[in-house]
Amino acid sequence: MSFSNLGLSNEIIRAVTELGYTKPTPIQKQAIPVILSGGDLLAGAQTGTGKTASFTLPLLHRLSNDSVKSTSNPYPPIRALILTPTRELAAQVESSVREYGKYLNLNTMAMFGGVSINPQKRLLKGRVDILVATPGRLLDHVQQGTVNLSHVEVLVLDEADRMLDMGFIRDIRRILSLLPKQRQNLLFFATFSDKIKALATGLLNHPKMIEVARRNVTADTVAQKVYKVERDRKCQLLAHLIRKDNWYQVLVFTRTKYGADRLVKQLTQERIQALAIHGNKSQSARTHALAKFKNGSLQVLVATDIAARGLDISELPHVVNFDLPNVASDYVHRIGRTGRAGASGEAVSLVCVDEYQLLTEIEKLIEQRLPFEVVAGFSANSHTVPAEPISDERKHKPQGSKPQTRSTAKQSAPQTVIGGKKSDPRTSSSRRWAKRDR
Ligand code: AMP
Repeated sequence: MSFSNLGLSNEIIRAVTELGYTKPTPIQKQAIPVILSGGDLLAGAQTGTGKTASFTLPLLHRLSNDSVKSTSNPYPPIRALILTPTRELAAQVESSVREYGKYLNLNTMAMFGGVSINPQKRLLKGRVDILVATPGRLLDHVQQGTVNLSHVEVLVLDEADRMLDMGFIRDIRRILSLLPKQRQNLLFFATFSDKIKALATGLLNHPKMIEVARRNVTADTVAQKVYKVERDRKCQLLAHLIRKDNWYQVLVFTRTKYGADRLVKQLTQERIQALAIHGNKSQSARTHALAKFKNGSLQVLVATDIAARGLDISELPHVVNFDLPNVASDYVHRIGRTGRAGASGEAVSLVCVDEYQLLTEIEKLIEQRLPFEVVAGFSANSHTVPAEPISDERKHKPQGSKPQTRSTAKQSAPQTVIGGKKSDPRTSSSRRWAKRDR
């Protein structure tokens, strides 16, 4: 199967060939024919599967083949609208659209907040065929009357599950109400949920459904490691790991913006070059840090989940969970940044005693036991760790074996009684620590 078998135009094939794509990925094989036929699509595909090209290539093909309908509007019509949850993803998708469409006569534009609105207004006065936008800034333009969505022929919701998680549902509904009724709708999600189902039901018209990667499955090409470490020694352990194996490009996740800034400070003191991206950073600082990281001139990029969502940093060798995420599915998204498109990568989690419960939830979700590793001199002090038969067992369990069920865990772990309920000491201790840290 090649791109020309899929019926894409020579100009598009030339552009992807120049990028080194020799054959379509599974999501592309399935999505491209559906989109070319003009039908609606509900597609489950995580970042790294080639999903951006799966909707962009047929979109470009359709728009370049159909001529623009004449309009009496003061602004030229926008023909395709791609909505993304984050600014970085909007910028990244728009740059892919531009790259894939470089031999076509179509204009694209990225629109997101955190930067001045005026240059965007100027661009909107020219011709924009494909607009890639985040919902908030798009609605700012709607309010100011500087954007016209009444001729949109194709709507793409990229990472729709994340948009819903981020509370964009009202903005999305508002935007939908501004689009013509007759249009093609493409909805992409990474993790299916009832919210996605509800959105799809109201939005899509007899959609074709495809899902390429099984949900919540981590790629086989990612080696996952968990280091048991005292909370206060995480930064030192990270610095040690970076130095020991000369890690040159490391994406580190923290749970909070404050944690990200603090870690950057600590790493800088350790003479390791690091910058952070998160919601409190200016857009120019975020763009600057990301560009440096992508071109290899920044060793460590520290990010919160939202800021890093969907980022395509090709063949990233190392992802570190400095803190485990509160939501288990974020673990899968985070480590999806490495081991992509066949390249191998390493995902390291630094886990302290108050995160054991989060780890258990992650293991349940990915149906995989992640054995602890200990670096001499960095392991948790025994006085901070409760009786812990499970962690000992972890050392001997091969990776890939099924996690313990709740009932077996209870059999092997001594039980304490908290609030009248029996519980695993890992759980009770994690609650205590979580409380203490608030
Ligand atoms: P995405 O899932 O859209 O974030 O894409 C992940 C990465 O795969 C990007 O770096 C793309 O450039 C790359 N990619 C997309 N399609 C192909 C293909 N058919 N062959 C090789 N690489 C691809």
